[in-house]
Amino acid sequence: MTFAGNGIGITRGIAIGEAHIMQRGLLDISPRLIDKASIPAEIKRFRLAVNGARERLQEIRQRIPGNTRSDIIAFIDTHLLMMNDAALVEVPIELIRKHAYAAEWALQLQRQSLVQVFDTMDDPYLRTRKDDVEHVVNQIQVSLLELDDDNDEDLDGKVILALDLTPADTIVMRHQGIAAFITEFGGPMSHTAILARSLGIPAVVGVHGITRLLRHGELVVVDGEQGVVLAGADQTILSHYQERIDAAWGRDTQLRSLIGKVATTREGVRVQLMANIELPEDIQTTRELQADAVGLYRTEFLYMNRQEMPDEEEHYQTYREVVEGLDGIPITIRTLDLGADKQVDGCTASSCNPALGLRAIRLCLKEPKMFQPQLRAILRAAVHGPVRIMIPMLSTLHEVRKLKVLIAEAEAALSADGVAFAKGIPLGGMIEVPAAALAADAFSRELDFLSIGTNDLIQYTLAIDRIDDEVNYLYDPLHPAILRLIQMVITAGQQAGIPVSMCGEMAGDPRYIPLLIGMGLREFSMQPGSLLIAKELLLQLDAAKLARQTRKLMKRLGEHDFEQQLLKICTRR
Ligand code: PEP
Ligand code: MG
Repeated sequence: MTFAGNGIGITRGIAIGEAHIMQRGLLDISPRLIDKASIPAEIKRFRLAVNGARERLQEIRQRIPGNTRSDIIAFIDTHLLMMNDAALVEVPIELIRKHAYAAEWALQLQRQSLVQVFDTMDDPYLRTRKDDVEHVVNQIQVSLLELDDDNDEDLDGKVILALDLTPADTIVMRHQGIAAFITEFGGPMSHTAILARSLGIPAVVGVHGITRLLRHGELVVVDGEQGVVLAGADQTILSHYQERIDAAWGRDTQLRSLIGKVATTREGVRVQLMANIELPEDIQTTRELQADAVGLYRTEFLYMNRQEMPDEEEHYQTYREVVEGLDGIPITIRTLDLGADKQVDGCTASSCNPALGLRAIRLCLKEPKMFQPQLRAILRAAVHGPVRIMIPMLSTLHEVRKLKVLIAEAEAALSADGVAFAKGIPLGGMIEVPAAALAADAFSRELDFLSIGTNDLIQYTLAIDRIDDEVNYLYDPLHPAILRLIQMVITAGQQAGIPVSMCGEMAGDPRYIPLLIGMGLREFSMQPGSLLIAKELLLQLDAAKLARQTRKLMKRLGEHDFEQQLLKICTRR
């Protein structure tokens, strides 16, 4: 019998593969006692399991390709260190010795007490250590129960089923060749989803119960476009999906014929099609697809899954590699946007409501010691190619002014140190907080360019957490409030004579591009994978006609036939 599940499709691709249910978070360990005579053997079994888990992790570490980012390697190293920690190894042994607990149960009890301690901590840095404890304990449990390890060799071609995945999981599993993933939780605008799109992994999120409903090894179809998951499909259905996979290859060839063609509308209005990048792999694609620029380089991934902050030299080498790799393609480097769903080790963020707390520029201004190395590294990397700096999550003009002071200080210090750097590089701001959109005219006077971050602008304007799948249905880029704010920002930029781009996911979505062209947007930054689809669409658009239609529509926001008119523009009828 065919099983069909629905969730939120987060990438365009389709994949067919065997289900691999991630054990992490799913293990059900119940209390169990052993007889006293078996205690020495049980301790030995526990030690062997820890060694086994450690060896497996070491093997994974060795198999990681040389070009993998240091943060991912550091993440594995941390877990290796924890496998030697007395709290995880010696305490369970004590529990086995004292109470004759089975090894799994002793470890589970110690896990619970450690997690409880972490849960009560105010410091978000320490709270994030909890995930590491969970991860390491699970690896040992998997080893004790002699289950197949999630991170073990053969994920090639598999469809991963999990409760949730972190951005780091996604990168590691991509190296292991997974075909697709399905998660029970998570939203389409989470950073894991954005990463999956950028890595081109077909994925569906928010399929509640899927890890219990499907079996390991079962053949699964993942339709990342429609958000559909199928298992037990008959030959007819499988052939249908296989045909769609084949058609996608054909379509890819057709799209690739647009590489090198200048992006304009039908009547020749030039539009900048830029790439959002976050991983070294993206440089290659950006060059291959001949993007006009990199409109958003997210730099926080350098900080994830490690305990030490990267120093100036590491930042500099990373940025330099990216700038040189782009070979003259201009790049906009966004300063650190840590906080909210991008929590990392070793950094503080407010605990009650991280999305409204010490995130992005707020955190950087509060922690200049953490921020200065990044600023200095960007200024130094700008010697090697055209670079702009962009500030995330601006909400007040003070932030812009303070940042300018910090940049001036960094320039002065670099001069004093006799280190080469580029002076006066353009400074722009992300408009992703409603206050900044409403005051876009004021920001335009102080900045060299603006970029609309719709992922957060929608989250903050509509008061919906972008990673909470329970309120995903409210995530609406076409909400009149959002359209009004976007229009305000574009107009403010036009009046001030500075470029305005959009780098949120909305910019790469063909459903919204005609409307945005009609609003006057001329710079779009998106996942590299969307660039050619956007170009194909642009080449068919009539900017003047769209502008007339959009002007009319913007006067009717919220009226009864508003949606109909909007649809007309979006579908170009
Ligand atoms: C945005 O908010 O639209 C954006 C591009 O930034 P991020 O998704 O990294 O928060
Ligand atoms: Mg954002």
